[in-house]
Amino acid sequence: MKSITIKELKERRVEVLPCVKCGSDDIDLHDCGYSTFNVAYGRCRNCKNEVKLSPAPCNLDMELLAKSWNEANDPKILRLKYEQQIIEIQKLIDALPQ
Ligand SMILES: [Zn+2]
Repeated sequence: MKSITIKELKERRVEVLPCVKCGSDDIDLHDCGYSTFNVAYGRCRNCKNEVKLSPAPCNLDMELLAKSWNEANDPKILRLKYEQQIIEIQKLIDALPQ
């Protein structure tokens, strides 16, 4: 008798941060499941704040999608990103002729 490999669907839990815009923790992580040009997103069911992953791998690891959601909804990461933008904009302002 020969053994073959089969695919299994297993449920597991991933950690997601609450929505940074409204604070809701009702987050939908969705993989459209297309074999080509796949799209996936994390979406707040309350305010529809959305983080898209496009193109997404066709066999998307939902932990990757959760990571994208978390990075876009982590106040610490966002603060650092915005502070960096302020520095860049300040450089542009400083470079303007008087
Ligand atoms: Zn929200």
